[in-house]
Amino acid sequence: MTEAVRLDAVSKVYGRGRSAVAALREVSIAIPRGTFTAVMGPSGSGKSTFLHCAAGLDVPSSGSVRLGGTDLAGMDENALTELRRRRVGFVFQAFNLVSALTVTENITLPLMLAGTRVDRGWLREVVHRVGLDGRTGHRPAELSGGQQQRVAIARALVTRPEVVFGDEPTGALDTMTARDVLTLLREVVSGLGQTVVMVTHDPVAASSADTVLFLADGRIVDAMAAPTAERVAGRMTGLGAWN
Ligand code: ADP
Repeated sequence: MTEAVRLDAVSKVYGRGRSAVAALREVSIAIPRGTFTAVMGPSGSGKSTFLHCAAGLDVPSSGSVRLGGTDLAGMDENALTELRRRRVGFVFQAFNLVSALTVTENITLPLMLAGTRVDRGWLREVVHRVGLDGRTGHRPAELSGGQQQRVAIARALVTRPEVVFGDEPTGALDTMTARDVLTLLREVVSGLGQTVVMVTHDPVAASSADTVLFLADGRIVDAMAAPTAERVAGRMTGLGAWN
């Protein structure tokens, strides 16, 4: 099994009748394990819907999603919740940390919710990798935005998920801090073999990925390997993204 996530002819329609919106149209893609993928496209092209369907947060109207070989079709809400807790990690723009909990408590929260034992060695390794040694007793308000996002990344890694999904993970950070967080995500892929799939509107962020998928009008219209910020920006201009 070398695919972390696979979509086959995934379509998603919101609403019905004359107000129906096709957010995804027969999207098929296989994302190999241990790779960093960025998803770009104009506003309304289906990026969030793609991420939500791939992560089991939303159910496609048709087609199939497989996560590490497990078909999500037919899973009920309890099974999907379980899958999201144990096999998927999430990093959001807004960090989504619990303010009353320490760094360590925030990081281990998914394990608590899943009723899984904390592997202390792995926790130490994750804390070290994200650069939070010496900060584990702090609360989110005592940390910078970049440090808070590092906590969120550690929380996403602690369950050893099949995929970490990022929804504009650098969207709330200044340029320098964003670059550090992208470097960290790059290391998580290259050093730990983690699979990362990230939606972004930033060509610089996308250029950290191995591959950039371009969505337009609910379809994957292009894939770019070894992206540079300039080539990504050029492709986005071609899709009318900045109009
Ligand atoms: P992006 O993330 O690229 O901006 P989205 O996946 O959010 O695109 O949306 C794709 C299309 O689906 C848009 O036309 C959007 O208005 C529509 N859409 C998204 N979510 C919903 C929803 N819950 N109900 C109705 N339409 C939606």
